[in-house]
Amino acid sequence: MKTIKLNNQDRAVGNIFCIGRNYTEHIKELHNATPEEPVVFLKPTSALSLTETPIILPDYSMDVQHECELVVYIDRNAECVKEQEALDYVGGYAVGLDLTARDVQSQCKQKGLPWTKAKGFRTSACVSDFIDSDQVVDIQSQYFGLRVNGQLRQHGYTADMMFTVAHIISYLSRVYGLAAGDLIYTGTPAGVAQLQSGDKLELLWADQIVAQFQVQ
Ligand code: MG
Repeated sequence: MKTIKLNNQDRAVGNIFCIGRNYTEHIKELHNATPEEPVVFLKPTSALSLTETPIILPDYSMDVQHECELVVYIDRNAECVKEQEALDYVGGYAVGLDLTARDVQSQCKQKGLPWTKAKGFRTSACVSDFIDSDQVVDIQSQYFGLRVNGQLRQHGYTADMMFTVAHIISYLSRVYGLAAGDLIYTGTPAGVAQLQSGDKLELLWADQIVAQFQVQ
């Protein structure tokens, strides 16, 4: 069973939902079209990786990139939830990495194939410990980021999301249903770039380091 940490307790993880193309500047850097509804894909639970666990670059990719994202932990079952009530279903928030084999993803897109091999490999869903949602006053006014080898590589403001956390939860609850234990990666801001063996990564929430990873 895969778990995350919330309030120093292990919590079981169910589905891992990920949102693509949720920040305008990232859509531009990859020359993607702007979506009319959230772009959703899944990662297998086996891909989940907690702080201090080495990142494994898959040997079938020459271009694994970091996508630093706000991650949501759902702690109540949710079906057809209204946007106004959606945040009541959140147990906590974290900063994570949606690691992406960009070359493999491009091949998948060209062939019209699913992205699983590009997005779901071992250790591709990195995440920090979770902060209790009660301690976050306004989730749409948070700053997060990623330092690689001591240099700021990526940073984002949740205010810049095209689809808010509440909208995403409402949408997922209506289409798929959400269950206690599900995680949601909410999309990356601009600044995605390639990882190299030996890179040291620090995930930031405001000015605090909330997780550290090293690429094997
Ligand atoms: Mg992503």
